[in-house]
Amino acid sequence: MESALREIADKIRGGGSLSQKQLDRILRERSRASSDPARRLSKRYAMAFYLRERESASPFWESLRLSAADDEALVRLLRTKPRRTASGVATVTVLTKPWPCGRDCIYCPNDVRMPKSYLADEPACQRAERCSFDPYLQVGARLSTLSAMGHNTDKVELIVLGGTWSDYPEDYRLWFMCNLFRALDDFGTEALSAEMSRRQQLLYQAAGQLLPSGMAASAEHAFQMAQLQHEVDAGALSFTEAWERLRPVREVMAPAFGDAFSWEDLGRLQQGNEEAQARCVGLVVETRPDMVTTDALCELRALGVTKLQVGVQSLDDGILRANGRGGTVAEVEHALALMRLFGFKSHVHLMANLVGTTPQVDLAQYRTLMEDGRFMPDEVKLYPCALVQSAHLTELHERGGWQPYSEEELTALLSACVRATPEHVRISRMIRDIPSNDILTGCKKTNLRQMVEERARAEAGKDAISEMRMREVATDEVDADGLALQVERYATANTEEAFLQWVDGAGKLAGFLRLSLPDQQVIREEQQRCAPFPVREGEAMIREVHVYGRTSRIHESSEGNQHQGLGRALVERACQMAADVGFTAVNVISAVGTRAYYRSLGFEDAGLYQRRKLASEVLACQHLVRPGATARL
Ligand code: SF4
Repeated sequence: MESALREIADKIRGGGSLSQKQLDRILRERSRASSDPARRLSKRYAMAFYLRERESASPFWESLRLSAADDEALVRLLRTKPRRTASGVATVTVLTKPWPCGRDCIYCPNDVRMPKSYLADEPACQRAERCSFDPYLQVGARLSTLSAMGHNTDKVELIVLGGTWSDYPEDYRLWFMCNLFRALDDFGTEALSAEMSRRQQLLYQAAGQLLPSGMAASAEHAFQMAQLQHEVDAGALSFTEAWERLRPVREVMAPAFGDAFSWEDLGRLQQGNEEAQARCVGLVVETRPDMVTTDALCELRALGVTKLQVGVQSLDDGILRANGRGGTVAEVEHALALMRLFGFKSHVHLMANLVGTTPQVDLAQYRTLMEDGRFMPDEVKLYPCALVQSAHLTELHERGGWQPYSEEELTALLSACVRATPEHVRISRMIRDIPSNDILTGCKKTNLRQMVEERARAEAGKDAISEMRMREVATDEVDADGLALQVERYATANTEEAFLQWVDGAGKLAGFLRLSLPDQQVIREEQQRCAPFPVREGEAMIREVHVYGRTSRIHESSEGNQHQGLGRALVERACQMAADVGFTAVNVISAVGTRAYYRSLGFEDAGLYQRRKLASEVLACQHLVRPGATARL
């Protein structure tokens, strides 16, 4: 291993270059030279070895004589799965504990091992189950893994999945978030491994407790789950009924970690995160449109949430009813409008191929979602419906009441959706991470996205694709001098939106900012309806700032795009644009770990947001903004 690393270091020292192919060849040749199969070299192994040597500043590591830039280049070269942090941030997905949902959609999986709608075989679910859904363990384990793979974990986006967040009790919501922040704050210190060991031991003891039946709690739990799952699959039990029956044994298996938290504790942990090694730069939860209320959004902001994933699925009340979903399109409209005023980024789930739709209907709905000011989300998960054993849809399918689209129909539909996506919208997923074994019928192609993107490019011809994800610079370096700052404007039902983007000569996206200028009449009405409404008259909102490129360390200089002042320039331009049309202040819906950054840009802490006063004198904002209004930004 030493000789392989020495050869690699010799090649890159002083800014020398080594391609992935050349690296693979070195590792292959060194492996071949070793007769011991246990000493076969891989990138993962080489990375773990190198990081350990660096950590202990061993004589071997010293002898490599690598500068900070060389060291960064070597780690980048050895890093596996570089796309994990390509968007500039390390994403950590965690799951809440098994819990029912207030709805019972026919396509929704009913896996009693999981929170409603998730399947135990999905990768993130497996990780969560291994940690008994404990948030501290989930974050600690994931960050440790990413770090061992050579990924930078200074900036972390936490994605909390599990049915409907607001369906969980308030004390659980607070406990969960406090543990997320506690794990982030402990990361990089000895406290993390000590607390992880303590928790694992308590979980192990709880699982081993003997029940009156003579079985260990974990065995009883596994047995009951298998039995109940069978009844749920057969339609004899609902998910909620099975969950109720599992409750007693789950309570036995839930150890008291001795970590009750108050809201004051949360504030303390959040403050600690401002200076922590792993800072929270985004916090996402998922919910249903009917749960989006002013009170719920105030609580979410206090918890530190910056983005909401909202299950919309369809923009047709009849289709929602036909799929047992309940809820209405009016609720979706209201939820998205309120989220915009609060500054939340909106991540909408839309499902193709539901009962009662056709590809034509799905495409028309997608266009409405993109173009109608009542909706216009920032991100979309565009899932085709897939049939899993535990979903009620199985029964309908057996009676001939539902069929999946053919591969041709599906790729044609998704390609058309991609081409209909404007510059400010990102399609984050096109297929859910369901293992193909779990899919009874429906698309099983794990490379569906790649197929769709190739088709979309071919069909678009000379027209450029606008969709954000396909334009991101990802792991590429970008020459800052070749970037242009472009502004796209659009009107929603209650705001004027400006999407500011750094774009290079080839149309690649290097960074962006979402500025929201709320209709002042709407703000006044909300103030009267609900006092105090956290956003006041004359205040614009920065809803998101993101600069792509390799995740750069917060504490070190870097050549990556994130430290070339691109973010600062976006913020300055946004503030100027807001001032130009009479706004007197700009709020930013900052994540806890970005507060220090915004303070450095002149923002002050202001309740649920950070706020910067604008230099311009107060101008009446009455001309801002009604749908179709022509206010200039
Ligand atoms: S609202 Fe979501 S979690 Fe609840 S049943 Fe429907 S799809 Fe499942």
